[in-house]
Amino acid sequence: MKIVVAKEILKANDQVAVENQETFGRDGVCVVNVMASPGAGKTSTILATIERLLPDLKSGVIEGDIASTIDADKIAERGIPVVQINTGGTCHLDAPMIKGALPHLPLPDIDVLFIENVGNLICPTSYKLGAHMNLVIASVPEGWDKPYKYPGIFAAADVVLLNKADMIEVFEFDVAAFERGVRMVNPDVEIIHISCKTNEGLDAWTENLRTRVGEHLFAGRS
Ligand code: MG
Ligand code: ZN
Repeated sequence: MKIVVAKEILKANDQVAVENQETFGRDGVCVVNVMASPGAGKTSTILATIERLLPDLKSGVIEGDIASTIDADKIAERGIPVVQINTGGTCHLDAPMIKGALPHLPLPDIDVLFIENVGNLICPTSYKLGAHMNLVIASVPEGWDKPYKYPGIFAAADVVLLNKADMIEVFEFDVAAFERGVRMVNPDVEIIHISCKTNEGLDAWTENLRTRVGEHLFAGRS
């Protein structure tokens, strides 16, 4: 019985996700669902990307956190439109939460909307939001084994960023094993090494995103 209830909830969620994507289409917004563990560097990566997309592409952010406005405050300080969703304990964002946030954003002025999901490698993949692209950020201190332990999130990724790449040697991070694990579940995904500390890879990643936005390569994934 529990399984049936969960399926019904997911179905209702998916219908709202479709509505969200229609809203994004109307206002010409490309939406990136950013998923990672807590501490992988989601907010830092989003901020670094937003700076590099300017001046031609303007961004907005929806911040999902269980509690606090720490990340949203960092973004608002830079003058970037941001809405904070506090889930009050729920470990993922869902489509109705996104729908509720949209009236608080100037969507017609936004080209790229980053949705920073709650830090969690498990259930965010089960809840469609209406995004066009899934970005998964892994980070070196978490260890190379994450794709083997949490294959679902890596399977759902359109791009995988390996953040804190400046620490690969310090942590004796096995890059080959990490990339093999990602490719086991997602053979063609792009894996880009970045560091928000040294700026390594950030231009390459931003160019990748810019191409996707420009060529309308977003394929309706949510
Ligand atoms: Mg954050
Ligand atoms: Zn959850």
